Formats: sequence, C-alpha cells, structure tokens
Amino acid sequence: MKHSSFKLKITFWITLLIAIVCTLAISGIMIMSSRIADSELQQDLIGIVERNVDEIEYKNGILEIEKDFAFYYDEVYCNVFDEAGQYINGESPASLVNSENLKNGEVGTFETDGGKYYYYDTRLDFQKYEYEIDVISGQILKYEADTVMTEQLSDTEHKETNFNGGISSSKAVEIALNHTGLKKEELKSLNVEITSDSDKAVFKVEFICNESTYPPIWVRGVINADSATSTLNAISKTLVFILPLFIVIAAVGAYIISRRAMTPIENITRSAKEISSGNDLSKRIEPGKSAEELSSLAQTFNEMLASLQASFESEKQFTSDASHELRTPLAVIKAECEYAMSDLAESEDKEDALSEISEQAEKMTKLVSALLTLSRTENGDKRYKLENTDISALLKSVLQKFTPQKGITLNTDIEDGICMPAQSELFSLMAENLLSNAVKYGKENGTIKLSLKKDGNKTVLSIKDDGIGIKEENIEKIFNRFFRADESRSKTEGFGLGLSIAKQIAELHSGEITVLSVYGKGSEFKIIF
Ligand code: ADP
Repeated sequence: MKHSSFKLKITFWITLLIAIVCTLAISGIMIMSSRIADSELQQDLIGIVERNVDEIEYKNGILEIEKDFAFYYDEVYCNVFDEAGQYINGESPASLVNSENLKNGEVGTFETDGGKYYYYDTRLDFQKYEYEIDVISGQILKYEADTVMTEQLSDTEHKETNFNGGISSSKAVEIALNHTGLKKEELKSLNVEITSDSDKAVFKVEFICNESTYPPIWVRGVINADSATSTLNAISKTLVFILPLFIVIAAVGAYIISRRAMTPIENITRSAKEISSGNDLSKRIEPGKSAEELSSLAQTFNEMLASLQASFESEKQFTSDASHELRTPLAVIKAECEYAMSDLAESEDKEDALSEISEQAEKMTKLVSALLTLSRTENGDKRYKLENTDISALLKSVLQKFTPQKGITLNTDIEDGICMPAQSELFSLMAENLLSNAVKYGKENGTIKLSLKKDGNKTVLSIKDDGIGIKEENIEKIFNRFFRADESRSKTEGFGLGLSIAKQIAELHSGEITVLSVYGKGSEFKIIF
C-alpha cells in the first residue's frame, strides 16, 4: 500500500470510508427502528388489552365475558385469570397461558418455546353499576354494568335530594339496588345526581361493589416480541448481502473518480517525459482542462523549463562566444607561424610574425584570465574571502597605477577611511574595468569623474565619463557576457566581458551596479554597496 499508486490509495480510502459510514448508518437505523417497532408493539398490546376491559363484567354475580372480547386480535392473545392467578378463559396456545408475576399496568417479558413474549396485565378490581331512573315515575330508563380499575374509582357522593312531585334520591338508590340484588353494605362507593335533558329529569345512580362481593379479575395480553423485529431481521439479512455489493460499487466509483482526477497529472508526467527524452527544453507542458491546482503546477513546471532553457541557451551562447573569441587569435598565430616557417619569409618578416604571435598570445591570455575570473566569481571560489578593507585607500592605490590616455582628465573625490568587507584583488579589478571603459568609450580630452562616498549606511562608487554613451536599447544588454555595442566592435579592443565581471564582483560584495547613460553625451556607472 505504501508504494502503490495514488489512484489505488484514493480508491482504497474512499471505499473504506463508504463501508464504515454505510455500516454505521445501517446499524444506527436498525437499532432505532427496532426500538421504535418494539415500543409500537407494546403500545398495540396495551391498547388491545385495555379495549377488552370494557367487554368484561359481572352480571347478577356471574362473570360475563362479552362476545366482543378479543381473545386473539392483531397477534395479541388475551387470557383472563382470577384474583389468585387461576386461568378463567382465553384462546391462546397452552404455552402462552402464563399468570406469573401479575402486575397491574406494566409490560413484562417471558420466554417460552424459544421465543420472547411481551405481556401486559390489567386488574379489574370492581364491579360498577350505572342506572338512570325517572325522577317522577321511578322507572329504570337505562342500566349498565361494567368493571373498573382502582384508579377509576370516584369519591362517594350521596346527598339526599327530593324531587318535587317525584321520588327521593334514596328511593332511586333503593330501586337500583333491588334491581341488582345487592345490599348497601356490599357497596364500596355510591354516587347520585340529578341530571336533566330537554324534557326529562333523571336520577343518575352509580355504585361500585366492594371486593368481597365481586372478586377482582386479571386480563393478561401476550404478544410475540420477535414479531416487531422479524421484518427488521429480514431487512438486515438482505443488507448483509447488499452491503458487499455497495462496497464493490463504491470501489468502482472511487476508482473511476480517482482515475479522472489523476488524468491531468498523467498528462503532465507524459509531457515531462517527452521533454526529457527529446532533450527539447522549448516544449511546454499542456495541462489541458485540469483543476486550478494542477494548472498552477503545470505553469510552475513551464516557468522552471523556461528558466532552464534560458540559462542553458546562455551557457551555450557563452561557450560559442568564448570559442569564437579564441579562434581568431589562434587563426592569426597559425597563419603567422606558417608564413614565418615558409621560405618566402625574410628574417625581418619572421620578427614581425613573432611579434604578432606574441600580441595574439597576450590577447588570448587576457581572455582566458577574464573567463577564469568570471567562472571563479560566479561559483564563489574559496580563494576570494571578503576581509574588512579600507576601500578608500585601495581605490587610491588603483588610481596611482592608472594613467588615462586620449588626453582625458581624471577628477577624483574619495572620502577617506571607508571600510567594508572586500576582496582587494577583485575590488581593484572591478574599478579598473570601469575606469578603462570610461577611457575607452570616453571622448578625446574629455573628463572622467570618480567618487567614493558614504550615503547613510551605504557606500556609493561612481565613475562618470563624457564619452559616446550607450543607446537606450543596449542598456539592458551591456552586462551580458560578450556583448559589445556595434560601434565598440570596430573602434576599440575588448571581449565584452569587462562589465559582466564588474557586475559579478559587485554582487559578490553585496553591491548593485546601475548605469545612467545618454547616447552621445556620456555614461555614469554607479555601484551601491
Ligand atoms: P568591452 O569593453 O570589452 O567591450 P564591457 O563588458 O566592458 O566589454 O562592455 C560591454 C559594452 O558596453 C561595451 O562594448 C560598450 O559598448 C558598452 N560600454 C561599456 N562601458 C561604456 C562606457 N563607459 N561608455 C559607453 N559604452 C560603454
């Protein structure tokens, strides 16, 4: 994995992530759903049991379970037990006839036949009777018997009331009790009130018998707990098979996405390979329609290629210029040698030839030493160590050895005691190059001004002449190696290396060389250290 391709890595991680997320999401959903289903199942169980309560009552002392009592409904089995937990009635399988731990209003579980079951119990404590009796005639208009749970008991309320021209409330109670065959002592609570609707006033008599008259009964509902989760189990089994399919689809998708994402990188790699195998630095990488980051990567590569190409070409140019400069004196030397050695040459001619050879050799020595200096200063040769130097004194000693030709006057303005880290040999060479240029390109009987001054924490060396000046289009080029303006080529000797050496030396001394020039009027070279 460590060394596998980026595409495979992306595919692997995306797939893993999707697999984890899917597994977590599915497990979460399954857990939540099973909880919801469980609670719904229990609610159903409670609902069915409590609905059945209305369908059970004592009639004339005999327990009567009405035909609407649902012994089995919606997977719920309801069994009726007496106060002691003895089975009274039900239609459930024998294994589900269970009266252990009867507890009013609570859901519990038990296991049987390898299955888990929820049960819900309701205890019907009391028998309740409700009568509506005509206040005038004492006739029973309506009669209802029912069972009630403890929490449904109401307070006893019986205030003697007489109805004008009719019966009293006690009479109404007596009529109702006679009808049921109960005695007042057998009651737990009694409630009498007069209600009147549009045309009739009635006594509403409600009474509840005590436990000894009608013993409490239990209704227990039972449902298979697994029925809630059976659908979920089926779904989860299906998911177990579907999940690997999901993962495979995710892996394929991830691979396609990563391959698409990697295409621009592959394009860039291919272009880079083509460039390196063809050794053609002029070619550029085509990023195509890629993302911003990749376009910028390709652009950076292209910039790097452009700068490599530029330096490569400048090196090539440099080598070709250097060879060219060496070839001319060598050709002269060869021709002079051949002439001197021929029979035609008189002894005087031979002397001339030797002197020409010596002159050309001198020229070559100068060129080679200039090239050597360039190379050493460029590569930071160790022999050039900067030491704290009094450059004012150094410059004065250079000037002592320097005699301007062409009737040129040299004006100097050197501030004393300016010290800075310098390499005296190179520093002198830089000053000599600029001074000799000022003479070479200065006008006959002109003036050169040299000044060395402190300006704040900077040191400024300026060499100004009133000579031929430099054309504006050449200003940029004069520091290039072997560059010579056209007018310099024929009129003055030189290789076009003096300024590039001066520039390199200035940079070695943390200086910056600039030129200000007006063509035909003169130039000022300034180095700010
Ligand atoms: P070289 O003097 O050997 O030609 P340099 O590198 O010293 O080489 O100078 C490069 C070119 O810059 C010169 O050929 C010349 O055209 C121009 N140049 C340099 N110094 C001056 C100057 N003081 N005034 C006018 N042109 C100059």
